[in-house]
Amino acid sequence: MNDVKKKLGFGTIAVHAGVEVDQQTGAIMTPVYMSSTFVQDAIGVHKGYEYSRSSNPTRDALERAFAELEGCDHGLAFSSGLAAIDAVLKTLKPGDEVISGDDLYGGTRRLFTSLYEGYGIIFHFVDPQDVAAVGKALNEKTKLVWLETPTNPLMRITDLRAVADLLQGHKALLAVDNTFATPALQHPLELGADIVMHSVTKYLGGHSDVVMGALMTRDAAVDEVLRTHQNNSGAVPGPMDCFLVLRGIKTLNLRMKQHCSNGAAMADFLTSHPAVDKVLWPGLANFRNHDVAARQMADFGGMLSFTLKDDTVAAARKVCETTAVFALAESLGGVESLIEHPALMTHASVPEPARNALGIANSLIRISCGIEDAEDLVADLRQALSA
Ligand SMILES: *Cc1c(COP(=O)(O)O)cnc(C)c1O
Repeated sequence: MNDVKKKLGFGTIAVHAGVEVDQQTGAIMTPVYMSSTFVQDAIGVHKGYEYSRSSNPTRDALERAFAELEGCDHGLAFSSGLAAIDAVLKTLKPGDEVISGDDLYGGTRRLFTSLYEGYGIIFHFVDPQDVAAVGKALNEKTKLVWLETPTNPLMRITDLRAVADLLQGHKALLAVDNTFATPALQHPLELGADIVMHSVTKYLGGHSDVVMGALMTRDAAVDEVLRTHQNNSGAVPGPMDCFLVLRGIKTLNLRMKQHCSNGAAMADFLTSHPAVDKVLWPGLANFRNHDVAARQMADFGGMLSFTLKDDTVAAARKVCETTAVFALAESLGGVESLIEHPALMTHASVPEPARNALGIANSLIRISCGIEDAEDLVADLRQALSA
């Protein structure tokens, strides 16, 4: 990033991130280089590209964009969010310990416990709202602290700066899954994180048409290790997907404004609805760590969960299956609003005792507010709740 670009606002960065005018044609949009291999002028003499698993010009533009979005120099693209997380875990050795928030994306927890525990990595799951709990689990074997904030699906907030301060003098890397907040709302690297991860599938892509993951870091040595895993394992996205995400990112800032204002409208409506018990949204003044969220986030996001006074699967099922604008589907962060039931859908892989201990109630419903008109979303939830 040059000095002029460093001073730009986030909306401007999002529009221009990673993109350079094509030297040959003047094309303002990055060409899609659908080529697996690149011709060499002589053995070992080439234009910077040899084979598209290692690097591809369209993917390079996207990786530059990822870095610019998080305000750092290094970005890496993966074929999914889980592939990105997998690359981070591959930096660990048997006997290494990981401290992780206990309220996690279901697939992340499954990767930790069903794969990496078997390879001798030890995981400590702690309440991410409680920095002292992280401190208690920390020891000289801790090599990685993995956090989501806000968490999925309970929207819990971690004070990232406080955790980063705690890790001073330890060898542990702090990695933050920034999928829910996006770089439009939160910059974990500025708060002391070493690695930021995104499920690009969600807000960065933004249009529910691509599965992809990203890692960003300021640390060249960390980037080098992760880049080696990216190339060794080959879990890389194709050029067309990279193009779609380059396009999606251009409207990230605009979209997030609408996602956030719709989130606020839903929180407002649901807190006053007689059938609703609890509303989980970090923007509510009485939400735990609301003050932390207000400090470390630019806004509170479009993800929200709620429980019903009738705390049964049947009641939640009725709401989820009765909406007309909200589509019943897993995933999140796209322009269209989605509704889902974590216990039976996204978090079905979390064992029931763990779900209960966490507070993933029978009637817990998670919504991803899209960018439709707030009045239509409110009307849709109103009719679903009265069904
Ligand atoms: C979806 C998601 C992931 C996994 O990403 P994929 O792109 O589905 O592999 C990880 N973390 C969070 C918070 C997610 O929402």
